[in-house]
Amino acid sequence: MSLNTWAEVSLNHIRENLLKIRQSLPSSVKLMAVVKANGYGHGDLETVRMAEIAGADYLAVAHLEEALRLRANDITLPILILTPINPEDVQLALVYDLMLTVASAAWLKEMRKYKPLSPAKKLKLHIKMDTGLGRIGVKTKEEWEELVPLIREADIVIDGFYTHFATAGNADRAFLELQTKRFTEMMNWSYASCLSVNHYHCAGSAAALRFPSLAMDMVRIGAAMYGFYPQQLLPSLKLKPAFSLHSRLIHVKKLNKGEWLGYDNSYCAEADEWIGTVPIGYADGWSQRMQNTELLVGGKRAPVIGKICMDQLMVRLPGPCEIGTAVTLIGSQGSEEITFDELAAHIGGVAQEVSTSITERVARNYTNDTCKEEAGAKWGNRNVQSIYKKAVM
Ligand SMILES: *Cc1c(COP(=O)(O)O)cnc(C)c1O
Repeated sequence: MSLNTWAEVSLNHIRENLLKIRQSLPSSVKLMAVVKANGYGHGDLETVRMAEIAGADYLAVAHLEEALRLRANDITLPILILTPINPEDVQLALVYDLMLTVASAAWLKEMRKYKPLSPAKKLKLHIKMDTGLGRIGVKTKEEWEELVPLIREADIVIDGFYTHFATAGNADRAFLELQTKRFTEMMNWSYASCLSVNHYHCAGSAAALRFPSLAMDMVRIGAAMYGFYPQQLLPSLKLKPAFSLHSRLIHVKKLNKGEWLGYDNSYCAEADEWIGTVPIGYADGWSQRMQNTELLVGGKRAPVIGKICMDQLMVRLPGPCEIGTAVTLIGSQGSEEITFDELAAHIGGVAQEVSTSITERVARNYTNDTCKEEAGAKWGNRNVQSIYKKAVM
């Protein structure tokens, strides 16, 4: 871990974003905060604590291990695991009161080998339907009919019935409408089977914010909580990114015209230039796909030059700078800003790909001005000092 490179996470922004999202939805709709992948790279426990304060009803994670980590840290909200777990781990779900995603009859049959029928030990399930994303889920009526007797058992609670959209953030709505129509048909299969289902849900961030009519009983909010949403489609909704990334110059030198720099001589100075070295590299999640991006030094944009190394990168400075000068890789300095959208466009990805790529080696430094009391000592500000103490212990 380099103390000169850190991410700053604004817990206030996460809370404000959630409150705005909550306000935009009918009050009966339950809010499931999606905190998979370490809270999209922001820190799972800190995000969960803010989500609880902002009134989240449910949590969702991708994997069993992520859910167990929350339970081990005394998180008591209901948790849905979005990816099917190994059937042999079903007892862990019972012991830690975790809700599981079911996407096939085969999973249920296999699971039965590890959970004898016992009405006293109820397993809570969310049935996943594939309406067009093509990832996981029940697709056909035949598959559904094979599933029904297996979920009708006395020790199964069907807490949810859900699907996930492929194009909810796109301007063209045609495929979203097709998926919605398929889901409506599938909900009719469920009604016809007279099963008792607690929640029907289909909307992630983009669908929930753009089309509140798709909120149904519950929305699954990930991206928007962290300030990632299709801004061009929702110009009036001002959600704020919570994550910024910073470092400092650890070395400054002059490169003479014609001198090479970087692995494979990937850069050649066109004139006499000032070059800074920044202690972040691909092992921190700043991958070589970030080559030819810019960062901020002294309130100005400066190009990253040469190949990004494992632990360091080089930047062409506007002029001589002191060692220790602050560098911003994501976020603002003065009136300049490097946005997630800009970086995502550069790598041909999405904002959450950038935030989830930042590895554990980069300390997360939490700012939390307005809800210190609520957040309490356990979740209070962590500054670099406390992180440093932890690192050297
Ligand atoms: C990740 C995920 C979400 C959250 O989506 P966002 O667009 O980040 O809000 C919702 N549902 C499922 C099934 C997911 O995998």
